[in-house]
Amino acid sequence: MNDSTLSRRKLIGTAALAGAAALLPRDLAAQAPAPAPAGAPGGYTIVTSSNGLEAAKAARQALIQGRDPLDAAIAGVNVAELDPDDVTVGYGGIPNEEGVVELDAAVMDGRTMRAGAVAALTGVKTPSKVARLVMEHTDRVFLVGAGARRFATAHGFPDESLLTEKTRKIWLHWKNRLSDLDDWIEAARDAEDPDVKRFLERYGEGLFRPQGTIHLSVRSEKGDLVGVTTTSGLFFKIPGRVGDSPVVGAGLYSENGVGSAGSTGRGEANLLTCGSHTVVEFLRDGLSPEEACLRALKRIAEKTHLVPRHRDAKGRPKFNVNFYCVNAAGRAAGAAIWSGSKYVVGDAEGVRRLDSAYLYKKDA
Ligand code: ASP
Repeated sequence: MNDSTLSRRKLIGTAALAGAAALLPRDLAAQAPAPAPAGAPGGYTIVTSSNGLEAAKAARQALIQGRDPLDAAIAGVNVAELDPDDVTVGYGGIPNEEGVVELDAAVMDGRTMRAGAVAALTGVKTPSKVARLVMEHTDRVFLVGAGARRFATAHGFPDESLLTEKTRKIWLHWKNRLSDLDDWIEAARDAEDPDVKRFLERYGEGLFRPQGTIHLSVRSEKGDLVGVTTTSGLFFKIPGRVGDSPVVGAGLYSENGVGSAGSTGRGEANLLTCGSHTVVEFLRDGLSPEEACLRALKRIAEKTHLVPRHRDAKGRPKFNVNFYCVNAAGRAAGAAIWSGSKYVVGDAEGVRRLDSAYLYKKDA
């Protein structure tokens, strides 16, 4: 779906309703239900990353029950955070190079322009909840590492193991085959483990290490805009490494009256351009959600990592970044540097996964 599809659908829907209303007696016309096509003004809209199908369903359910949009957004991403099979977020996320799962998360409330964030947090399955507590229970925005952990403990979060048997095996496989210059070696049967095999089939191995995240933005029926981004970050990262996800302006940005945006993908590239803030600024300038995402991606492609190892033979980025956004009218879009990405939209019509717009088509 792109903005023009939405506009077309909305226009057809509105025109059809106007035509039907003209045939109805006045009192019945007054009772005719308001049109609620995808992302229509007046309805609620959820936009999230491709791993957010179940999250979008949970957020949608919460909105239908009349819950606050931030409650709904956090309830949505909690599904991914608690899912041990999503190795990019929360519990069961891929650990750092020492086998420790360090999580990053941020929330932003476009009604108040307040935000809360945590980074390199250990032992909490749902860091998005701790980020919200930072926003609501401190006069600060961002807590990291040991301080974030102590804050979580103060708020009653136990220190739990976030490494699952599956991610422990995946990490050990990575460590065993990392180098011939240390004491760790790969046993022949290691790569035969079904969990390791599935991981390698899905993510492969290479210089530009795979990663993942969930971002979820909500535009409520009232027009309020909120966003949440949560991640275990770059796979096998240097301990203490923080990407874009918990950084307000990079991993997410929400402002009532303008829009809400968030990102996944190579965090360093997005950090260097404050990408989500850029998307929202383009919305402020009147660009459609899809154009706003693509323009921000173009800036990343042109301005960041101008070093050969990050560029292919044609000078295009070897990495990917995705943006997701919803504007004040409730229109949503997803876009990526490279073709093949997906995003998820939820609205009164339901929840669906869609193809993201892109800057470059992957070579066949
Ligand atoms: N942006 C995240 C990070 O850099 C990872 C990702 O979304 O793939 O930590």
